[in-house]
Amino acid sequence: MESGWVTTGPEVTAFETELAAWVGATYAVGVSSCTAAIEIAVRALRLPPNSRVLTSTITFCGAIHAIVHAGHRPVLVDVDDATLMPSPGTIARAARSGADAFVAVHYAGHGTPLQEVADAAGLPISRVVEDAAHAIGTEIGGRRVGSFSAATCFSFYATKNLPIGEGGMITTNDESIAERARRLRIHGMTADAWKRYLPGGSWRYSVAEDGIKANMTDIQAAIGRVHLKELEGWQRRREMLAAAYDAGLAGIPGIRLPARPEGDSRHAWHLYVIRVQRDYGMSRDALMARLAEQGVHCSVHFIPNHTQPYFGRFLDVHARFPVADRAFEEILSLPFYHSLTFAEVERVCDAIRAASPVREHKGSAIGEAEVVA
Ligand SMILES: *Cc1c(COP(=O)(O)O)cnc(C)c1O
Repeated sequence: MESGWVTTGPEVTAFETELAAWVGATYAVGVSSCTAAIEIAVRALRLPPNSRVLTSTITFCGAIHAIVHAGHRPVLVDVDDATLMPSPGTIARAARSGADAFVAVHYAGHGTPLQEVADAAGLPISRVVEDAAHAIGTEIGGRRVGSFSAATCFSFYATKNLPIGEGGMITTNDESIAERARRLRIHGMTADAWKRYLPGGSWRYSVAEDGIKANMTDIQAAIGRVHLKELEGWQRRREMLAAAYDAGLAGIPGIRLPARPEGDSRHAWHLYVIRVQRDYGMSRDALMARLAEQGVHCSVHFIPNHTQPYFGRFLDVHARFPVADRAFEEILSLPFYHSLTFAEVERVCDAIRAASPVREHKGSAIGEAEVVA
């Protein structure tokens, strides 16, 4: 604020450089949101209008709007029961009627194998864009998400792992995609348009294409730069909180814990999503209401997009989503953020254990351990 420069300027450039280095990408372009990042990244692929762009039905609606706004047809894909992300089988089925690009989401922060996704869709990896709104800090094969596909889109929305309030970033190793994204984010004006306001800058600009207004501000970037320094510590804290939930919920019948990544992959733990299954003896909705009465507020990520009235018009006639439909009845996002305390995790776990109508399994695992000791 004291610099007198509030909108896009040197703080954005510095944040871009630092975030690109953090994720291991060559280029980064700061934008106003992840939704704008996805629209810009998909447009940067230069597909013919009305191309078929595949993505998971279990994602935030903004990611589907981004495909529509880029001038294409979203093709929703059913998910795998364990990861809640499209599997080679569901992708191949959706791609049977054609696939021109794929927007892959690393659901909850669990990395999805991108080469496998591309192969299943019959696409080169250069036609894959990542929705990494949950995945800053996710590692796949020992490398951070940010440079695996044509372009990776991050979110700095208030609830995300690197929160600014609002904001997004596109990272890529492809210079032409970075250049196009820089123009598209600011009315299609030639690169570094903001410099025209600097002393000695030229007032002339040229409009090269149909860009949008989606630039990041220096105020956002200044906050993001401070938070980026904290991020690795926050991620370690999230890992410990996830482990505490795993331990606290272990053995409750009908409570299924989130999938763990394999090998040298690392979960970013944006969300901690359990499944409330038949054996629990109570529906997800009933449990959610019971927890809310006790001041434990949960959420559901996400309502499958194929059930949304507006997106219905894009569905292939034979498209079915049996796994997503079933999972939607069961998924429950527990309170999860880096400042959550272990005592709060225990309180949530105890409340879930106590709410179960299945009597013989009552009693806290922690309490039992104390008795045994
Ligand atoms: C939050 C979110 C987005 C949108 O991010 P914004 O920065 O709010 O536009 C996109 N996809 C997923 C999966 C999200 O969770």
